[in-house]
Amino acid sequence: MDELEEFGSDLANELGVPLSELPVHVVEKAAVDPLFLHHLVSCKSDSLLLQLLFNESTSSNVEFGTNQLKKSRLFKSAVSAAIKWLSSGARFTAEDEYKERIQICFSCPNISEPPSSSLYSFLNTRYICSLCGCDIERKAKLDTETCPDTDYSKSGRWPKREYFKTSRS
Ligand code: SF4
Repeated sequence: MDELEEFGSDLANELGVPLSELPVHVVEKAAVDPLFLHHLVSCKSDSLLLQLLFNESTSSNVEFGTNQLKKSRLFKSAVSAAIKWLSSGARFTAEDEYKERIQICFSCPNISEPPSSSLYSFLNTRYICSLCGCDIERKAKLDTETCPDTDYSKSGRWPKREYFKTSRS
């Protein structure tokens, strides 16, 4: 089983949908687009909404399965992040922490505009982290992601989780 198949299987479990009824284009989009994945997980108890999301993702994926995207390192790393996120409870970063992460990214020397790539075009990516290649606005949304700049500090540039736990309590 490759990583995309593993992700599809995890996603079907999470949504409570038989794997055979989960369209491939939905799995592909969810694997690289955390916001779409979030919408799917949020709507999992409403089969009508879920179906609408399945249909909505069809037109934007016409080219997806036929290009070289799935062989890219970037795609593989996005799928790994999505698997990790699903298996860790499918939680999104709280709003205050997300804003802090993004603010730090926008003042970081490692932020850059994306190079020409089908994945970035597909996601309408505006800015990436040049250390990991991730779309920063999507990466910051996933609770399980971390800043890769371990030269800056052992835990990267993003604030430690403990800080938010204290300020929220
Ligand atoms: S993830 Fe970390 S290294 Fe990358 S742009 Fe954001 S703050 Fe900078």
